[in-house]
Amino acid sequence: MATSYGDFEPVIGLEVHAQLLTRTKLFCRCETSFGDAPNLHTCPVCLGLPGSLPTPNEEAVRLAVLAGLALGCTIQRRSVWARKNYFYPDLPKGYQITQYEEPFALSGQVTFLLDGEERSPRILRIHMEEDAGKTLHAVGNASIVDLNRAGTPLIEIVGEPDLRSAAEAGLYLKRLREVLMAVGANDGNLEQGSFRCDANVSVRKLGDTKLGVRTELKNINSFRFVEEAIDVEIRRQIRELELGRPLVQATRGYNSEKRETYLLREKENDAGYRYFPDPDLPVLILDQAYVDVVKQALPELPDARRVRYQGLGVPAAAAQVLTSHPRVAGFFDECLVWSSDCAVDATKIANFIIAEVLRDASFAGLSASFPVTPKQLVELLRLVQEGTISGKQAKALLVEMSGTESSPADLVKASGMAVMSDEAALEGMARELMAANPKQVAQYRAGKATMLGFFVGQIMKATKGSANPALTDSILRRLLSEVPE
Ligand code: ADP
Ligand code: MG
Ligand code: ZN
Repeated sequence: MATSYGDFEPVIGLEVHAQLLTRTKLFCRCETSFGDAPNLHTCPVCLGLPGSLPTPNEEAVRLAVLAGLALGCTIQRRSVWARKNYFYPDLPKGYQITQYEEPFALSGQVTFLLDGEERSPRILRIHMEEDAGKTLHAVGNASIVDLNRAGTPLIEIVGEPDLRSAAEAGLYLKRLREVLMAVGANDGNLEQGSFRCDANVSVRKLGDTKLGVRTELKNINSFRFVEEAIDVEIRRQIRELELGRPLVQATRGYNSEKRETYLLREKENDAGYRYFPDPDLPVLILDQAYVDVVKQALPELPDARRVRYQGLGVPAAAAQVLTSHPRVAGFFDECLVWSSDCAVDATKIANFIIAEVLRDASFAGLSASFPVTPKQLVELLRLVQEGTISGKQAKALLVEMSGTESSPADLVKASGMAVMSDEAALEGMARELMAANPKQVAQYRAGKATMLGFFVGQIMKATKGSANPALTDSILRRLLSEVPE
Protein backbone atom coordinates (compact mmCIF):
# COMPACT_ATOMS: atom_id res chain seq x y z
CA MET A 1 0.00 0.00 0.00
CA ALA A 2 2.60 2.60 -1.04
CA THR A 3 -0.12 5.18 -1.23
CA SER A 4 0.00 8.83 -2.01
CA TYR A 5 -2.47 11.30 -0.57
CA GLY A 6 -1.81 14.33 -2.75
CA ASP A 7 -1.18 17.52 -0.76
CA PHE A 8 -2.00 15.78 2.49
CA GLU A 9 0.11 13.91 4.97
CA PRO A 10 -1.52 11.32 7.22
CA VAL A 11 -0.49 11.19 10.88
CA ILE A 12 -1.23 8.02 12.80
CA GLY A 13 -0.62 6.98 16.39
CA LEU A 14 -1.59 3.54 17.65
CA GLU A 15 -2.74 2.46 21.08
CA VAL A 16 -2.22 -1.27 21.49
CA HIS A 17 -3.75 -3.34 24.26
CA ALA A 18 -1.94 -6.60 24.83
CA GLN A 19 -3.09 -9.22 27.31
CA LEU A 20 -0.27 -10.45 29.52
CA LEU A 21 0.07 -14.23 29.53
CA THR A 22 -0.42 -14.88 33.22
CA ARG A 23 -2.29 -17.79 34.72
CA THR A 24 -4.31 -15.51 36.98
CA LYS A 25 -5.84 -12.02 36.87
CA LEU A 26 -4.11 -8.74 37.74
CA PHE A 27 -5.58 -8.15 41.19
CA CYS A 28 -7.11 -11.49 42.23
CA ARG A 29 -6.27 -15.16 41.84
CA CYS A 30 -9.06 -16.03 39.40
CA GLU A 31 -7.84 -17.84 36.32
CA THR A 32 -7.54 -15.97 33.07
CA SER A 33 -9.31 -18.00 30.43
CA PHE A 34 -10.91 -17.77 27.05
CA GLY A 35 -14.07 -19.54 26.02
CA ASP A 36 -15.19 -20.95 29.37
CA ALA A 37 -18.77 -20.79 30.65
CA PRO A 38 -19.70 -17.17 31.47
CA ASN A 39 -18.78 -15.87 34.95
CA LEU A 40 -16.99 -19.08 35.94
CA HIS A 41 -13.79 -17.22 36.81
CA THR A 42 -14.97 -14.54 39.22
CA CYS A 43 -14.53 -13.64 42.89
CA PRO A 44 -15.38 -10.71 45.19
CA VAL A 45 -12.37 -8.73 43.91
CA CYS A 46 -13.09 -8.94 40.18
CA LEU A 47 -16.84 -8.68 40.82
CA GLY A 48 -16.12 -5.43 42.65
CA LEU A 49 -17.93 -6.46 45.83
CA PRO A 50 -17.65 -3.94 48.69
CA GLY A 51 -14.86 -4.67 51.14
CA SER A 52 -12.72 -6.70 48.74
CA LEU A 53 -9.14 -5.56 48.19
CA PRO A 54 -6.84 -5.91 45.17
CA THR A 55 -3.40 -7.55 45.37
CA PRO A 56 -1.10 -7.01 42.37
CA ASN A 57 0.03 -10.07 40.43
CA GLU A 58 3.82 -10.24 40.46
CA GLU A 59 4.04 -12.28 37.25
CA ALA A 60 1.96 -9.67 35.40
CA VAL A 61 4.37 -6.96 36.54
CA ARG A 62 7.34 -9.07 35.45
CA LEU A 63 5.90 -9.67 31.97
CA ALA A 64 5.04 -5.98 31.62
CA VAL A 65 8.60 -4.98 32.53
CA LEU A 66 9.99 -7.61 30.16
CA ALA A 67 7.86 -6.19 27.33
CA GLY A 68 8.90 -2.63 28.22
CA LEU A 69 12.57 -3.56 28.12
CA ALA A 70 12.18 -5.41 24.81
CA LEU A 71 10.62 -2.28 23.32
CA GLY A 72 13.50 -0.10 24.46
CA CYS A 73 11.54 1.72 27.16
CA THR A 74 12.93 3.17 30.36
CA ILE A 75 11.36 1.36 33.30
CA GLN A 76 10.19 3.82 35.94
CA ARG A 77 11.31 3.26 39.51
CA ARG A 78 7.95 4.53 40.70
CA SER A 79 4.55 4.08 39.09
CA VAL A 80 1.07 4.70 40.42
CA TRP A 81 -2.17 2.75 40.07
CA ALA A 82 -5.08 5.01 39.22
CA ARG A 83 -8.84 4.69 38.98
CA LYS A 84 -10.46 5.53 35.67
CA ASN A 85 -14.12 6.07 36.48
CA TYR A 86 -16.90 5.37 34.04
CA PHE A 87 -20.17 3.53 33.99
CA TYR A 88 -20.66 0.45 31.88
CA PRO A 89 -22.30 -2.89 32.70
CA ASP A 90 -19.11 -4.88 32.05
CA LEU A 91 -17.18 -2.80 34.60
CA PRO A 92 -18.51 -4.00 37.98
CA LYS A 93 -16.48 -1.66 40.20
CA GLY A 94 -17.52 1.42 38.24
CA TYR A 95 -13.85 2.13 37.64
CA GLN A 96 -10.94 0.47 35.88
CA ILE A 97 -7.61 0.18 37.66
CA THR A 98 -4.94 1.54 35.33
CA GLN A 99 -1.86 3.75 35.43
CA TYR A 100 -2.30 7.35 34.39
CA GLU A 101 0.08 10.14 35.28
CA GLU A 102 2.87 7.82 36.31
CA PRO A 103 3.06 4.72 34.07
CA PHE A 104 5.73 2.06 34.59
CA ALA A 105 7.50 2.53 31.23
CA LEU A 106 8.37 5.55 29.07
CA SER A 107 9.84 6.31 25.65
CA GLY A 108 10.73 3.25 23.59
CA GLN A 109 10.74 2.63 19.86
CA VAL A 110 10.14 0.08 17.15
CA THR A 111 12.56 -0.01 14.24
CA PHE A 112 12.02 -1.41 10.75
CA LEU A 113 12.64 -0.87 7.07
CA LEU A 114 9.78 0.55 5.03
CA ASP A 115 10.39 0.51 1.28
CA GLY A 116 14.11 0.34 2.04
CA GLU A 117 14.05 3.31 4.40
CA GLU A 118 14.78 2.91 8.10
CA ARG A 119 11.93 4.07 10.32
CA SER A 120 11.83 4.27 14.14
CA PRO A 121 8.36 5.26 15.33
CA ARG A 122 8.52 6.06 19.02
CA ILE A 123 6.56 4.66 21.92
CA LEU A 124 5.36 7.36 24.29
CA ARG A 125 4.53 5.17 27.26
CA ILE A 126 3.35 1.77 28.41
CA HIS A 127 1.03 1.31 31.34
CA MET A 128 -0.53 -1.68 33.04
CA GLU A 129 -4.25 -1.97 33.52
CA GLU A 130 -7.05 -4.46 34.04
CA ASP A 131 -9.41 -5.50 31.26
CA ALA A 132 -13.18 -5.09 31.47
CA GLY A 133 -15.69 -7.93 31.07
CA LYS A 134 -17.67 -8.64 27.93
CA THR A 135 -21.19 -7.61 27.12
CA LEU A 136 -22.97 -9.93 24.71
CA HIS A 137 -25.79 -8.05 23.07
CA ALA A 138 -28.93 -9.37 21.47
CA VAL A 139 -29.49 -12.51 23.47
CA GLY A 140 -33.21 -12.55 22.79
CA ASN A 141 -34.13 -9.00 23.71
CA ALA A 142 -31.60 -8.81 26.53
CA SER A 143 -27.86 -8.29 26.93
CA ILE A 144 -25.75 -10.54 29.11
CA VAL A 145 -22.52 -9.75 30.89
CA ASP A 146 -19.62 -12.18 31.16
CA LEU A 147 -17.02 -11.16 33.74
CA ASN A 148 -14.46 -13.90 33.05
CA ARG A 149 -12.27 -11.35 31.33
CA ALA A 150 -12.78 -8.64 33.96
CA GLY A 151 -9.47 -8.04 35.74
CA THR A 152 -7.28 -9.75 33.13
CA PRO A 153 -3.88 -8.02 33.01
CA LEU A 154 -3.13 -5.82 30.01
CA ILE A 155 -0.43 -3.47 28.93
CA GLU A 156 -1.39 -0.51 26.82
CA ILE A 157 1.38 0.60 24.51
CA VAL A 158 0.78 4.19 23.47
CA GLY A 159 2.62 5.14 20.31
CA GLU A 160 3.71 8.68 19.36
CA PRO A 161 1.95 10.06 16.28
CA ASP A 162 4.98 9.11 14.16
CA LEU A 163 3.35 6.87 11.53
CA ARG A 164 2.78 8.35 8.09
CA SER A 165 0.81 5.73 6.17
CA ALA A 166 -1.55 2.81 6.67
CA ALA A 167 1.22 0.47 5.52
CA GLU A 168 3.59 1.86 8.10
CA ALA A 169 0.97 1.45 10.82
CA GLY A 170 0.54 -2.18 9.76
CA LEU A 171 4.26 -2.84 9.89
CA TYR A 172 4.60 -1.15 13.29
CA LEU A 173 1.82 -3.36 14.60
CA LYS A 174 3.43 -6.52 13.21
CA ARG A 175 6.80 -5.69 14.74
CA LEU A 176 5.23 -4.88 18.07
CA ARG A 177 3.36 -8.16 18.08
CA GLU A 178 6.49 -10.13 17.16
CA VAL A 179 8.44 -8.61 20.03
CA LEU A 180 5.69 -9.26 22.58
CA MET A 181 5.40 -12.85 21.40
CA ALA A 182 9.16 -13.33 21.39
CA VAL A 183 9.43 -12.41 25.06
CA GLY A 184 6.40 -14.55 25.93
CA ALA A 185 4.37 -11.59 27.22
CA ASN A 186 1.48 -11.97 24.78
CA ASP A 187 0.09 -14.53 22.35
CA GLY A 188 -0.60 -12.05 19.55
CA ASN A 189 -4.16 -13.18 18.90
CA LEU A 190 -6.06 -10.39 17.15
CA GLU A 191 -9.15 -12.50 16.49
CA GLN A 192 -9.64 -13.50 20.12
CA GLY A 193 -8.81 -9.96 21.17
CA SER A 194 -5.74 -10.66 23.29
CA PHE A 195 -3.91 -8.19 21.04
CA ARG A 196 -6.07 -5.18 20.17
CA CYS A 197 -5.42 -1.92 18.46
CA ASP A 198 -7.04 1.51 18.39
CA ALA A 199 -5.79 3.73 15.60
CA ASN A 200 -5.72 7.51 15.95
CA VAL A 201 -5.79 9.09 12.54
CA SER A 202 -5.46 12.69 11.36
CA VAL A 203 -4.30 14.43 8.23
CA ARG A 204 -2.59 17.75 7.63
CA LYS A 205 -1.33 19.72 4.65
CA LEU A 206 2.16 18.61 3.60
CA GLY A 207 4.68 20.84 5.33
CA ASP A 208 2.42 21.68 8.28
CA THR A 209 3.91 20.91 11.67
CA LYS A 210 0.75 21.26 13.75
CA LEU A 211 -1.27 18.07 14.25
CA GLY A 212 -4.70 17.88 12.67
CA VAL A 213 -7.97 16.91 14.34
CA ARG A 214 -7.91 13.17 14.95
CA THR A 215 -10.43 10.42 15.04
CA GLU A 216 -9.91 7.16 16.87
CA LEU A 217 -10.75 3.90 15.13
CA LYS A 218 -11.76 1.29 17.70
CA ASN A 219 -11.06 -2.40 18.02
CA ILE A 220 -10.24 -3.58 14.54
CA ASN A 221 -9.50 -7.28 14.76
CA SER A 222 -7.22 -8.14 11.86
CA PHE A 223 -4.06 -6.75 10.31
CA ARG A 224 -5.73 -6.43 6.96
CA PHE A 225 -8.64 -4.43 8.33
CA VAL A 226 -6.41 -2.18 10.44
CA GLU A 227 -4.57 -1.02 7.35
CA GLU A 228 -7.71 -0.85 5.28
CA ALA A 229 -9.66 1.10 7.92
CA ILE A 230 -6.84 3.61 8.39
CA ASP A 231 -6.56 4.14 4.64
CA VAL A 232 -10.33 4.58 4.30
CA GLU A 233 -10.39 7.04 7.21
CA ILE A 234 -7.48 9.07 5.80
CA ARG A 235 -9.34 9.40 2.51
CA ARG A 236 -12.57 10.38 4.27
CA GLN A 237 -10.82 13.13 6.23
CA ILE A 238 -9.13 14.48 3.10
CA ARG A 239 -12.48 14.48 1.30
CA GLU A 240 -14.13 16.40 4.16
CA LEU A 241 -11.36 19.00 4.24
CA GLU A 242 -11.46 19.42 0.49
CA LEU A 243 -15.19 20.04 0.74
CA GLY A 244 -14.41 22.71 3.33
CA ARG A 245 -16.08 20.80 6.16
CA PRO A 246 -14.35 20.94 9.56
CA LEU A 247 -13.38 17.62 11.17
CA VAL A 248 -14.61 16.70 14.64
CA GLN A 249 -12.66 14.70 17.18
CA ALA A 250 -14.55 11.45 17.50
CA THR A 251 -14.42 7.72 18.00
CA ARG A 252 -15.29 5.76 14.88
CA GLY A 253 -15.86 2.14 13.91
CA TYR A 254 -15.08 0.35 10.65
CA ASN A 255 -17.52 -1.47 8.41
CA SER A 256 -15.35 -3.76 6.30
CA GLU A 257 -18.18 -4.74 3.96
CA LYS A 258 -19.04 -1.18 3.05
CA ARG A 259 -15.42 -0.09 3.39
CA GLU A 260 -16.55 2.85 5.47
CA THR A 261 -15.81 4.23 8.88
CA TYR A 262 -18.81 5.40 10.90
CA LEU A 263 -19.33 7.64 13.91
CA LEU A 264 -19.57 5.85 17.26
CA ARG A 265 -19.44 8.85 19.57
CA GLU A 266 -17.94 12.28 19.77
CA LYS A 267 -14.78 12.12 21.81
CA GLU A 268 -15.08 12.15 25.60
CA ASN A 269 -12.14 13.90 27.23
CA ASP A 270 -10.05 12.70 30.16
CA ALA A 271 -11.79 15.02 32.61
CA GLY A 272 -14.86 12.84 32.27
CA TYR A 273 -12.98 9.90 33.78
CA ARG A 274 -12.11 11.71 37.03
CA TYR A 275 -8.80 9.86 37.36
CA PHE A 276 -7.26 9.65 40.82
CA PRO A 277 -4.67 7.40 42.51
CA ASP A 278 -6.21 4.17 43.79
CA PRO A 279 -6.22 4.40 47.60
CA ASP A 280 -6.35 0.59 47.88
CA LEU A 281 -3.01 0.07 46.15
CA PRO A 282 0.45 1.22 47.22
CA VAL A 283 2.76 2.98 44.77
CA LEU A 284 4.60 0.38 42.67
CA ILE A 285 8.37 0.56 43.19
CA LEU A 286 10.55 -1.29 40.66
CA ASP A 287 14.16 -0.82 41.70
CA GLN A 288 17.16 -1.25 39.44
CA ALA A 289 18.10 -4.61 40.93
CA TYR A 290 14.65 -5.97 40.06
CA VAL A 291 14.79 -4.57 36.53
CA ASP A 292 18.24 -6.12 36.06
CA VAL A 293 16.94 -9.54 37.07
CA VAL A 294 14.04 -9.27 34.62
CA LYS A 295 16.42 -8.10 31.90
CA GLN A 296 18.41 -11.31 32.19
CA ALA A 297 15.37 -13.23 30.98
CA LEU A 298 15.23 -11.28 27.70
CA PRO A 299 15.60 -13.72 24.82
CA GLU A 300 17.19 -12.88 21.48
CA LEU A 301 14.72 -10.44 19.89
CA PRO A 302 13.34 -10.82 16.35
CA ASP A 303 15.52 -8.02 14.90
CA ALA A 304 18.70 -9.64 16.18
CA ARG A 305 17.51 -13.02 15.01
CA ARG A 306 16.91 -11.73 11.49
CA VAL A 307 20.40 -10.24 11.40
CA ARG A 308 21.85 -13.57 12.51
CA TYR A 309 19.88 -15.52 9.90
CA GLN A 310 20.87 -13.14 7.14
CA GLY A 311 24.47 -13.59 8.26
CA LEU A 312 24.04 -17.28 7.40
CA GLY A 313 22.97 -16.32 3.90
CA VAL A 314 19.21 -16.56 4.47
CA PRO A 315 17.45 -13.90 2.33
CA ALA A 316 15.73 -11.06 4.22
CA ALA A 317 12.22 -12.11 3.23
CA ALA A 318 12.78 -15.67 4.44
CA ALA A 319 14.37 -14.43 7.69
CA GLN A 320 11.23 -12.36 8.18
CA VAL A 321 8.91 -15.35 7.78
CA LEU A 322 11.00 -17.45 10.15
CA THR A 323 10.93 -14.79 12.88
CA SER A 324 7.23 -14.00 12.62
CA HIS A 325 6.51 -16.65 15.28
CA PRO A 326 8.97 -17.55 18.04
CA ARG A 327 8.32 -21.27 17.64
CA VAL A 328 9.12 -21.16 13.92
CA ALA A 329 12.39 -19.39 14.68
CA GLY A 330 13.01 -21.95 17.42
CA PHE A 331 12.37 -24.79 14.95
CA PHE A 332 14.81 -23.27 12.48
CA ASP A 333 17.43 -22.78 15.23
CA GLU A 334 17.13 -26.45 16.18
CA CYS A 335 17.62 -27.40 12.53
CA LEU A 336 20.79 -25.32 12.52
CA VAL A 337 22.08 -27.32 15.49
CA TRP A 338 21.46 -30.64 13.70
CA SER A 339 22.87 -29.37 10.44
CA SER A 340 26.17 -28.38 12.03
CA ASP A 341 27.09 -32.09 11.93
CA CYS A 342 26.44 -32.54 8.24
CA ALA A 343 26.69 -29.03 6.81
CA VAL A 344 23.25 -28.82 5.25
CA ASP A 345 22.92 -25.28 3.92
CA ALA A 346 20.94 -22.86 6.15
CA THR A 347 19.15 -21.27 3.20
CA LYS A 348 18.02 -24.67 1.90
CA ILE A 349 16.61 -25.46 5.35
CA ALA A 350 14.91 -22.06 5.56
CA ASN A 351 13.34 -22.40 2.13
CA PHE A 352 12.13 -25.93 2.78
CA ILE A 353 10.57 -24.91 6.10
CA ILE A 354 8.77 -21.99 4.46
CA ALA A 355 7.67 -23.83 1.31
CA GLU A 356 6.80 -27.23 2.78
CA VAL A 357 6.78 -27.46 6.57
CA LEU A 358 4.74 -24.38 7.47
CA ARG A 359 1.86 -25.54 5.32
CA ASP A 360 1.26 -28.42 7.72
CA ALA A 361 2.20 -26.60 10.91
CA SER A 362 -0.52 -25.44 13.26
CA PHE A 363 -0.44 -22.59 15.74
CA ALA A 364 -2.37 -21.85 18.90
CA GLY A 365 -1.15 -18.64 20.48
CA LEU A 366 2.49 -19.07 21.44
CA SER A 367 2.50 -22.82 20.88
CA ALA A 368 2.92 -24.56 17.58
CA SER A 369 3.09 -28.08 16.25
CA PHE A 370 5.11 -29.14 13.25
CA PRO A 371 4.62 -32.20 11.02
CA VAL A 372 8.22 -33.33 11.55
CA THR A 373 11.05 -32.75 13.99
CA PRO A 374 14.06 -30.57 13.16
CA LYS A 375 16.21 -33.72 13.23
CA GLN A 376 14.00 -35.49 10.67
CA LEU A 377 13.99 -32.42 8.46
CA VAL A 378 17.76 -32.01 8.47
CA GLU A 379 18.27 -35.73 7.76
CA LEU A 380 15.87 -35.47 4.86
CA LEU A 381 17.71 -32.50 3.38
CA ARG A 382 21.02 -34.25 3.91
CA LEU A 383 19.78 -37.13 1.73
CA VAL A 384 18.99 -34.58 -0.97
CA GLN A 385 22.36 -32.90 -0.60
CA GLU A 386 24.17 -36.25 -0.91
CA GLY A 387 22.25 -37.09 -4.05
CA THR A 388 20.52 -40.07 -2.42
CA ILE A 389 17.08 -38.69 -3.21
CA SER A 390 15.79 -35.93 -5.41
CA GLY A 391 14.08 -32.74 -4.20
CA LYS A 392 10.80 -34.14 -5.45
CA GLN A 393 11.27 -37.35 -3.52
CA ALA A 394 12.04 -35.24 -0.44
CA LYS A 395 8.62 -33.61 -0.64
CA ALA A 396 6.93 -37.01 -0.90
CA LEU A 397 8.97 -38.31 2.02
CA LEU A 398 8.02 -35.29 4.12
CA VAL A 399 4.38 -36.23 3.74
CA GLU A 400 5.11 -39.87 4.54
CA MET A 401 7.18 -38.92 7.60
CA SER A 402 4.60 -36.46 8.98
CA GLY A 403 3.49 -37.28 12.47
CA THR A 404 5.74 -40.37 12.67
CA GLU A 405 9.04 -41.00 14.40
CA SER A 406 10.53 -42.56 11.25
CA SER A 407 13.95 -41.53 10.11
CA PRO A 408 14.00 -40.46 6.47
CA ALA A 409 16.89 -42.81 5.72
CA ASP A 410 14.84 -45.79 6.96
CA LEU A 411 11.84 -44.72 4.92
CA VAL A 412 14.02 -44.38 1.85
CA LYS A 413 15.31 -47.92 2.38
CA ALA A 414 11.90 -49.39 3.07
CA SER A 415 10.32 -47.80 0.04
CA GLY A 416 13.31 -48.45 -2.22
CA MET A 417 13.00 -44.83 -3.14
CA ALA A 418 16.62 -43.89 -3.00
CA VAL A 419 18.64 -43.40 -6.11
CA MET A 420 21.03 -46.34 -6.00
CA SER A 421 24.49 -45.08 -6.77
CA ASP A 422 26.56 -47.92 -5.35
CA GLU A 423 28.97 -48.49 -8.22
CA ALA A 424 30.36 -51.83 -7.07
CA ALA A 425 26.87 -53.27 -6.56
CA LEU A 426 25.67 -52.06 -9.94
CA GLU A 427 28.73 -53.45 -11.63
CA GLY A 428 28.20 -56.83 -9.94
CA MET A 429 24.61 -56.89 -11.15
CA ALA A 430 25.70 -55.98 -14.66
CA ARG A 431 28.27 -58.75 -14.77
CA GLU A 432 25.72 -61.35 -13.56
CA LEU A 433 23.25 -60.13 -16.14
CA MET A 434 25.81 -60.42 -18.93
CA ALA A 435 26.81 -63.93 -17.83
CA ALA A 436 23.14 -64.98 -17.88
CA ASN A 437 22.47 -63.47 -21.33
CA PRO A 438 25.48 -64.31 -23.58
CA LYS A 439 23.40 -64.09 -26.76
CA GLN A 440 22.38 -60.46 -26.11
CA VAL A 441 25.99 -59.58 -25.19
CA ALA A 442 27.19 -61.01 -28.48
CA GLN A 443 24.52 -59.11 -30.43
CA TYR A 444 25.59 -55.82 -28.78
CA ARG A 445 29.21 -56.50 -29.55
CA ALA A 446 28.31 -57.36 -33.15
CA GLY A 447 27.01 -53.79 -33.49
CA LYS A 448 23.39 -53.94 -32.26
CA ALA A 449 23.63 -50.81 -30.05
CA THR A 450 19.96 -50.91 -29.08
CA MET A 451 20.73 -54.03 -26.99
CA LEU A 452 22.02 -51.59 -24.33
CA GLY A 453 18.41 -50.76 -23.56
CA PHE A 454 17.71 -54.40 -22.75
CA PHE A 455 20.44 -54.45 -20.07
CA VAL A 456 19.47 -51.06 -18.59
CA GLY A 457 15.88 -52.29 -18.40
CA GLN A 458 16.90 -55.46 -16.60
CA ILE A 459 18.89 -53.53 -13.99
CA MET A 460 16.03 -51.07 -13.45
CA LYS A 461 13.70 -54.01 -12.96
CA ALA A 462 16.04 -55.64 -10.46
CA THR A 463 16.43 -52.40 -8.48
CA LYS A 464 12.78 -51.40 -8.70
CA GLY A 465 13.74 -48.33 -10.69
CA SER A 466 16.10 -46.95 -8.11
CA ALA A 467 19.41 -47.47 -9.97
CA ASN A 468 21.10 -44.21 -10.84
CA PRO A 469 20.37 -44.10 -14.60
CA ALA A 470 23.49 -42.24 -15.69
CA LEU A 471 25.75 -44.49 -13.65
CA THR A 472 24.00 -47.67 -14.86
CA ASP A 473 24.35 -46.54 -18.43
CA SER A 474 28.06 -45.82 -18.16
CA ILE A 475 28.83 -49.08 -16.31
CA LEU A 476 27.00 -51.13 -18.93
CA ARG A 477 28.68 -49.37 -21.85
CA ARG A 478 32.08 -49.96 -20.30
CA LEU A 479 31.50 -53.66 -19.54
CA LEU A 480 29.84 -54.43 -22.84
CA SER A 481 32.67 -52.82 -24.80
CA GLU A 482 35.35 -54.78 -22.94
CA VAL A 483 37.11 -57.05 -25.36
CA PRO A 484 36.33 -60.59 -24.20
CA GLU A 485 39.35 -62.65 -23.17
P1 ADP B 1 -6.43 9.29 24.50
O1 ADP B 1 -6.72 8.64 23.18
O2 ADP B 1 -6.64 8.35 25.62
O3 ADP B 1 -7.11 10.58 24.66
P2 ADP B 1 -3.91 10.65 23.88
O4 ADP B 1 -4.56 11.93 23.68
O5 ADP B 1 -2.65 10.68 24.67
O6 ADP B 1 -4.85 9.58 24.59
O7 ADP B 1 -3.58 10.05 22.46
C1 ADP B 1 -3.45 8.72 22.29
C2 ADP B 1 -2.92 8.36 20.92
O8 ADP B 1 -3.33 9.25 19.91
C3 ADP B 1 -1.41 8.31 20.84
O9 ADP B 1 -1.09 7.08 20.27
C4 ADP B 1 -1.03 9.44 19.95
O10 ADP B 1 0.09 9.10 19.17
C5 ADP B 1 -2.25 9.59 19.08
N1 ADP B 1 -2.49 10.94 18.60
C6 ADP B 1 -2.63 12.04 19.33
N2 ADP B 1 -2.89 13.10 18.54
C7 ADP B 1 -2.95 12.64 17.27
C8 ADP B 1 -3.20 13.25 16.00
N3 ADP B 1 -3.48 14.53 15.87
N4 ADP B 1 -3.18 12.46 14.93
C9 ADP B 1 -2.93 11.14 15.03
N5 ADP B 1 -2.68 10.53 16.19
C10 ADP B 1 -2.69 11.28 17.30
MG1 MG C 1 -7.20 6.66 23.03
ZN1 ZN D 1 -11.40 -12.65 40.71
